[in-house]
Amino acid sequence: MHIELTEMLRCPEPHELGVLVLSTGEMLGRMVRSGIVGCPICKREYPIVHGVVDFTGRGTRDVGRGPAATRPPSPVLRPDDAQTLQALLDLSGPGGFIVLVGDGVRHAVGLAGLRGGVHFIGVNAPSDAEELPVLSLVRAAGVIPLRPAMARGVVLGADVAAPPWFEEGQRVLLRGRRFVVEREDVVPPPGIRQLAAGQGLWAGEKS
Ligand SMILES: [Zn+2]
Repeated sequence: MHIELTEMLRCPEPHELGVLVLSTGEMLGRMVRSGIVGCPICKREYPIVHGVVDFTGRGTRDVGRGPAATRPPSPVLRPDDAQTLQALLDLSGPGGFIVLVGDGVRHAVGLAGLRGGVHFIGVNAPSDAEELPVLSLVRAAGVIPLRPAMARGVVLGADVAAPPWFEEGQRVLLRGRRFVVEREDVVPPPGIRQLAAGQGLWAGEKS
């Protein structure tokens, strides 16, 4: 996890928003390879193991591989996938965070090559995904463990094109920014209006 992501994290427990506290162990540049993220409100502690922040253990030290661990290897990407996604996300400048969920995390490298200066956050990535200087990885059950309205774009993989991920994606997205799903038959959550659908993708915008 990139150290500057700390202030964007939120505890997955259903209590008011608070600032989480990071205790770093091993660092690699600006990336935290091991450590603990603590919640001052509910006192839970979440481990960072091999760079991945694990919110699935409900604050215990029991580090599971998460729900994605048993899935088969990710399908091969077509070279034009990243360009299509970049166009749909309408990333007109550097800076900020893009949230990729489930199989959507596979696009981090392609998107980073097209649009530098953006940091990607992979939520419940496929088991073969690796943390990168441009990609922080987090795991959580049924929530995106990030603060509201912090993302310049959200991409949901086909494997997470369902509640609660629609609502969670809408929650973390900034107003006026793009919401992309790797499916065409999407019923958008409240607060997202459709812009386009086709070529296996659906794009909307937060109103
Ligand atoms: Zn908490």
